[in-house]
Amino acid sequence: MPIQNDQSTSLQSITRRDSLKIIAATTGTLALTSPALASILRSATSADPLITWSELKPSFHAFVDLNTGGNVLLRTSKDAIIMIDTKYPHLAGAIKADAENFTRADSKNGSPKLILINTHHHGDHTAGNPLIIPHADESYAHKNAIPRIQSQLDTTKQSGKNAVDRIKGFSDSKALKDLAQQAADASDAWTNKEVTPATAIDAKATDIEGTDITLHHFGPGHTDNDLVVEFKDDNVFHTGDLVFSGLHPYFDPTAGVSAMGWLVALGTLYQLCDKDTIVVPGHGEPGDRTIIQNQIDYLTQILIEVQNQIDAGTPKEDTASMEWDFMKGLGFESIRERAINAVYDELAS
Ligand SMILES: [Zn+2]
Repeated sequence: MPIQNDQSTSLQSITRRDSLKIIAATTGTLALTSPALASILRSATSADPLITWSELKPSFHAFVDLNTGGNVLLRTSKDAIIMIDTKYPHLAGAIKADAENFTRADSKNGSPKLILINTHHHGDHTAGNPLIIPHADESYAHKNAIPRIQSQLDTTKQSGKNAVDRIKGFSDSKALKDLAQQAADASDAWTNKEVTPATAIDAKATDIEGTDITLHHFGPGHTDNDLVVEFKDDNVFHTGDLVFSGLHPYFDPTAGVSAMGWLVALGTLYQLCDKDTIVVPGHGEPGDRTIIQNQIDYLTQILIEVQNQIDAGTPKEDTASMEWDFMKGLGFESIRERAINAVYDELAS
């Protein structure tokens, strides 16, 4: 019937018109006009992530992999990509590509700001910086991290040169290999400009303007330049290496480590959390504030046990080979002795 034909024609024309809108929108020539179209467009433009992320809550993705360095956390929104730490050069390009992809899924237009925060200077958190900082609108690290990051420039460049070999041990994806090759090709030209965050933090608590983020520095702990990143609106923290979850913590005497200071820092941090807080550690699985308490317990116990051995006159090398109950079952066994030695030195000094 004519009426049915008319309806049919009308539906076809709507479909054609909407298809044109989608095509136009993907090429940036026409703004989207409906949520339904936005949804179709998202699925049309969001490729699968290059690496495996844990979605902690909407807009928060963590890259947790014990074999590839410190945990990266992303918060992606239409306004800004917040990136915490950069792992290594063979992965940083993929981290950035995935962050941009998540953002496209959150935002229908515009290009959000890229904000990088380094939790501290250690290379497994900062060696990917030269793939990120040249593209970042803002970048932050503690003031004590800046000269340390710069002193690692040669190591960072070498890490870049090895990017293709290193990605082979991680994935056989061609896209990842291509990004690693780009890092390797660029690495010779990296200078302090590419590795150094633009803004040095020198306060106990610093709000990043235009965001809900506070950067906390609680004094010397894992290093002399630890920053904890708090997302106030979402009750999410990235602790940097103040927390190793389910693992022995890494002690680096060259970085100003202090077990006593570390305990103070964690006590202060714990007070900022509640039962609903999501905690992303520097290494190991994200969890709630329990993983902070577990790290407090580890440090308290190691201080007590090592002090007992010092009091009993046990030599350092004999103390270092000990394993107490609280250490049993933890990962990163290879750094257990290192932890004991550092605590022994700190207490005996
Ligand atoms: Zn570290």
